[in-house]
Formats: sequence, structure tokens, C-alpha cells
Amino acid sequence: MSSNNPSLDAFWMPFTANRQFKGKPRLLASAEGMYYTSVDGRSILDGTAGLWCVNAGHGRSEISQAVAKQIAKMDFAPTFQIGHPLPFELAERLVKHTPGNLNKVFFTNSGSESADTALKIALGYHHARGQAQRTRFIGRERGYHGVGFGGISVGGIGNNRRSFGNMLAGVDHLKHTLLPENVFSKGLPEQGLWLADELEQRIALHGGDTIAAVIIEPVSGSGGVIMPPEGYLQRIREITQKHGILLIFDEVITGFGRVGKAFASNRFGVTPDILTTAKGLTNGAIPMGAVFVGDHIHEAFMQGPEEVIDFFHGYTYSGHPVAAAAGLATLDIYERDGLFERTLEMENYFQEALHSLKDLPNVKDIRNLGLIGAVEFHPAEKVGKRGYSVFEHCFWEGNTLVRCTGDIIAMSPPLIIEKTHIDQLVDAMAKAIRASA
Ligand code: PLP
Repeated sequence: MSSNNPSLDAFWMPFTANRQFKGKPRLLASAEGMYYTSVDGRSILDGTAGLWCVNAGHGRSEISQAVAKQIAKMDFAPTFQIGHPLPFELAERLVKHTPGNLNKVFFTNSGSESADTALKIALGYHHARGQAQRTRFIGRERGYHGVGFGGISVGGIGNNRRSFGNMLAGVDHLKHTLLPENVFSKGLPEQGLWLADELEQRIALHGGDTIAAVIIEPVSGSGGVIMPPEGYLQRIREITQKHGILLIFDEVITGFGRVGKAFASNRFGVTPDILTTAKGLTNGAIPMGAVFVGDHIHEAFMQGPEEVIDFFHGYTYSGHPVAAAAGLATLDIYERDGLFERTLEMENYFQEALHSLKDLPNVKDIRNLGLIGAVEFHPAEKVGKRGYSVFEHCFWEGNTLVRCTGDIIAMSPPLIIEKTHIDQLVDAMAKAIRASA
């Protein structure tokens, strides 16, 4: 058994059809720039930035050197009632990129932890302000906020919820924003602003003063790459503000340049009260998440006696020194190379290339914004079969990694992508779509 040919028995893979995978495994051995190398020596174009996280491309030596240096200097130090400089430094650097008054940072280790942390902050905020009755959350159908019990409660993907019994009580869901009249929209769809007004109906039903927060991905990723209609996020912001309800943006995917600004909030000009991130924060190199919190939220926690812990929450690895070092090195790259702006430069080319697939067999819809794109297919006799077939064909024949969720193929390449890579990605997709017809 060599390292390229391990026994596959013991590792129970996450979000994977394990028996199917182990019958014909897709194994990656190394990565550099825009490419993985598979264990069988093929160069595989990374059309997904790993899993929406390697925004600066693979193998960035600045990150690996920073990690190596830090792990040798101080492998770990806690952040409960004692500290070390790096997470403070990283937090200061990060908040230079956040919109509005999102000036405080709570570190986590993943997007799931960020989501659950944000929900707890929302509850704690209202509690501290004498509004402990605000315990409801509003999420959305097809929303994805990770896999913690909080995240799946406000999330709206049936498969992620239905086997797991009772979840958070008092959660309601708005409709998703995928409308048939918007098919093949480029960027934000025009129709559907009225979907935001459904929030008023939910508020009328439950009573505005029982709702703690609304949580939304500005662009839904895992639920199938779903765009907000023009003006939708602004309207949600107005309604939440009117009723004293907090707005949480889950930017685990849209953060760190994916849609052409540091955050989708910056691009859309809508500032939430709480903003969650992970993934691109360290370029995927070391697990880390961050929850950005408005000054007004943070202030509410700082009203008690100084010697009492202000928020009874945290992870052993919140602000881990090695992760923080990776985060700082990643931010250096994003800033130095102007990668967030680069997304905007490539957006149009990516958009037109993707939409060139429109007339291929079974293509039902194409959606895109920044460097996120999706092609949705009319299902074959079994839902998900066609999407999986395109994904497999891309991997084995097209030497390209894309992501499939049901009959939707999502693409989210590293932000260093060049036009030639976009051509390669779309060419692999076109061949796979024809082969899967
Ligand atoms: N929130 C969103 C919007 C995500 O896309 C994801 C992961 O894809 C998560 C949360 C969960 O992140 P993690 O897998 O790091 O827990």
C-alpha cells in the first residue's frame, strides 16, 4: 500500500456516496496554481477552488512558509482568558475590508461553526437588551448554513435536515429566489423582488418582536447557485431594520472576492448586522472561520460587570496561531495581487463563456455572478443522474473538477483564473454535456 494507493475502507467520507466512490475513486495527489494532479498523474483543472475555498490558487508558498514558521515558533496557545498577538493582528487587518460597522471579529474553525456562532450572538444580543422573547429565526428554502444543529435548522436543504429529528424550535423559511421567468439571466435576475416582501408576511404571522434574526446567503451556493433578484437584499435589509430584527449574511462562499469585492455585502451595498465567513479566509490551507459583528451588537455584550465573561461561547481553536498566520499570509496575497478586483475583470468573460453552453442538450438554466457559475440540467429518468454524469465526464475525460449538486453543476474557480482556463473549463463542460445527453 503506497500513499497514492491507500486502503479506502476506514475513512467514512463526508457528503459522499461512499460505496459508489470507493468503487471508482477520484483521488488527488498534489496541487499547484489552477491545477490538481490526480494520483494517476493527470493534470486536473480546478473549476471549484477546492470546495469554494482556494481563492488565491493552490500551492501559495507565502502561506505554507507562514504556516511552517508559526508552527515552529508556537504551535498552539489558547485564547480563553489569555491571548497571543496573531488573531488580534488578523482581526484588525480583516475589518479593513468589511462594510459599515462590522468591526469586531469572533474566530471559529469552519463555516458551520460560524453559522451557529452567529445565531447564538443574535440570541445573546436580544437577551442582553431585554428582548429575550426574540428567539425565532427565519432562514430560506435551499439555504445552506453548514451542518451544526443551528445551521441545519435555518438551512433549507431537505436531505440535510430530514433524518435528524427535532431541530431549533421556532424557525421559519422564506422561499428561495429561483424563478422560472429568470432562466438564463446574466448576473442578478430582474424578476422576484416581491419574494422579499414575504418576510413581512412571516413577521405578521409570528410577530416581529419574536424574531431574532433572518439568515441569508447573498448568493446561495450549495443549494444550487441561486442569485438574489435585483433589489432583493436591500428590501430584506429595510424590512429587518424596520422590525428590529438582525440580518445575518452567510458569506462563507461569497466572501473573499468570489463576487468581485471583499464581500457580497460590499458589492450589493447592503450591510448586515452579522456576517459569517470561513473557506477563503485562509485560502483553504488551514481550517478557520470568522464571524464579523457590528459595533452595536458587540456593545450590547459589553454592558455587564467587567470581570464577567461577556459571551459564553468559543472554541479551543478560536484564533489558532497557525490558522491566523495562514489568514494573514492569505490576506497579503489578496491585497497585493488585487484578487478581489480581478474577479470583476474576469466576470464578463466567464459569464459569456458559460452562457455559450445554453443551446446544448438538456440545459435548463445558466446562472452566474462574479466567479460563481452554474449550469442546471433537465433531469434524466432519475433526478441527479445527469448532473453526476457531467461531473464524472469532466473529471475522467475533461481533466476538470466541477461540483455537482443534483442536476446542477456549480463552478467557482480560483480567482487567479486566466481566459485560457475558462476556455478549458467550458470546453470540458460542453463535451461532458453532449456525452451525457
Ligand atoms: N455556509 C455556507 C454558505 C457554505 O457554503 C458552507 C459550506 O459550503 C458552510 C456554511 C459550512 O462550512 P463548513 O463546511 O466549513 O462547515
